[in-house]
Amino acid sequence: MNYKPEFTDKDMSLYKFISGPYDNNGYLLVCKQTNKSVIVDAPGNPDELISAAQETDTDMMLITHNHWDHLLGYKEITTKFNLRTGIGVDDAEGMKPDIPDFQICDGQTLTVGKISIKAIHTPGHTEGSTCFLINNILFTGDTLFPGGPGKSQNSKAFQTIINSISSKLLALKQSVVFFPGHGLDGTIKNAQKDYFVFEKNCSSYEIFGDIEWLN
Ligand SMILES: [Zn+2]
Repeated sequence: MNYKPEFTDKDMSLYKFISGPYDNNGYLLVCKQTNKSVIVDAPGNPDELISAAQETDTDMMLITHNHWDHLLGYKEITTKFNLRTGIGVDDAEGMKPDIPDFQICDGQTLTVGKISIKAIHTPGHTEGSTCFLINNILFTGDTLFPGGPGKSQNSKAFQTIINSISSKLLALKQSVVFFPGHGLDGTIKNAQKDYFVFEKNCSSYEIFGDIEWLN
């Protein structure tokens, strides 16, 4: 592989590719034992992601949520590779006519080679937003970024995303490193610290949009 992994442990290597008009992150996770791989999200112009994936046995593509900037490369990738595609149940219908092969429920376990992937349904940014936990790494799509939650469309959605993050993601081990749909990775430990400040200072949950924990 000509690319440098973003992260590696005894079971897997993770490669990150930034592309498309909104600098989206597309990820390639490879099982070290079997060379089987899973692609997470499908940003536009996925040339590098595709060329890296060609060196592996591509098995699956997971979509964190149904927003177009994470899907601009969907057709290109699914045409190029023979792989199974999946998205959270509540986001699947909206992808017509390109509905993925399978729909993912909260708590479901998926397997790629020797890698075990746990799906965590985290509604708020979209109804079907889903995070994926593998060993000590977590893909968060547009649900959790270092510095704050993903964008919410109204105050109800904001309360929903806050509930998803606080009850499901911040409950994970502090050592978990998370990889969002845009920008840099973060740790659950830092997210917990920032969220604690937010929770203490937040006088109203009737807010929404692009919210930062420390502002
Ligand atoms: Zn989004």
